[in-house]
Amino acid sequence: MPVTIKTDYRFIDVGVNLTDDVFRGKYHGKKRHDDDMHAILERARNAGVKSMILTGTSLCESQQVLTLAKDLGFFCTIGCHPTRSAEFETSDGGADAYLSALDALVANNLHGKGRVVAIGECGLDYDRTRFAMPEVQQKYFRLQLLLAKKHSLPLFLHSRAAHTDLVKILREEGFGEEGGKAVGGKGGVVHSFTGSLDEVSELMDMGFYISVNGCSLKNEENLRSAKAIHRNRVLLETDAPWCSMTGGHASKQHLALLPLSLRELYFPASTKPENFMLGKAIKGRNEPCAIGGVAWVMHELHGISLEEITESAFKNTLELFSLSPEELFTSTD
Ligand SMILES: [Zn+2]
Repeated sequence: MPVTIKTDYRFIDVGVNLTDDVFRGKYHGKKRHDDDMHAILERARNAGVKSMILTGTSLCESQQVLTLAKDLGFFCTIGCHPTRSAEFETSDGGADAYLSALDALVANNLHGKGRVVAIGECGLDYDRTRFAMPEVQQKYFRLQLLLAKKHSLPLFLHSRAAHTDLVKILREEGFGEEGGKAVGGKGGVVHSFTGSLDEVSELMDMGFYISVNGCSLKNEENLRSAKAIHRNRVLLETDAPWCSMTGGHASKQHLALLPLSLRELYFPASTKPENFMLGKAIKGRNEPCAIGGVAWVMHELHGISLEEITESAFKNTLELFSLSPEELFTSTD
C-alpha cells in the first residue's frame, strides 16, 4: 500500500522582512517584475504558515511593518537593528527623540490586529561595524532593553560575532535569568542563530529561545548547534527574502530526503526575475513557504518526526509572544 504523507503541518514564521521591495518585484530600486505579494501569501498559506511576525529594523521600517501587519492580520516587532543604530544619533531630535518615537509606536499598538509582539530586532553585529561602531551598537542596544522591560515584551535579538558582549549587556540589564523576569522582561529569541554549542547552552540557561533559518544550517558546526537547541526552546523562521537554503549548504544532505509532496509546498518551482510568471517563485528570493524546509532539516537533526518539531516550535512561538490560536488565520489578502 502506498504510504500517504501528511502535508498539513502548521507554522508561524517568526522572522520575515515582508516590507522588502523584492516582494513587490523591485530589486535594488529597479522594477523587475509585477508585484506578487498575493502569490507569496498564497504559497505561504498552502505550506501551512498560519501567521508571521514581521521584523522592524529601524524607526521608519517599524512604522512600515506595523502598517503591513495590520493590513494582513499578522504581527510585528518594533526596534532598531544594530547596523542601523547610528540613526539614534543622526535623526532629528537625537537619541532621546528616536527612543521616544519607538516607545510611542509600541505603546499605541499593543492590542488587536497587527499588534507589536516584541522589541527588536535589536542586538549586536560585529561583522558589520562599518555601519555602526561596536560602542554605538552597544549603547543603543542597551537603550532598547528599557522598552522590553517597560512594556514587558520579549526581545527579538540579532547577534552576529558578538555573543560575549550581547550576553554581558543582557546580564547587566537584568536579563541573565529567566529571561529577565525579575526586571519586567519577557525573555526573547536570538533569531537567525549561527553561534556555537556553548552559545546555545548559555542562551537557554538565561531563559532565551533560539530561532533557526537557512543561514543557521550552512555548515557542519551550524548543524551541531541547531541539534543542541532543546525542543522547548526552538523557533522557526525564514528571514525572507534573505537566508535561502542553497545547494552548497550542509543542510542539503537532509533536504535531499524531503518528500516530493512537501517539496512542492516548501520549494515551489522558481524562475529568474526576468522570466517572471505569476505563480512562480523567484530564484534566490527566500519566502515564508520555505519555513517547511527549515523544519524538515531540524526534524532530521533532532531525530523526531516533522510533526513533533513543527508543533514544538508552534507552541513555543505562541508562548513566547503571548499569541492565542484564535488570533491566527486572520489574513484577508
Ligand atoms: Zn537579524
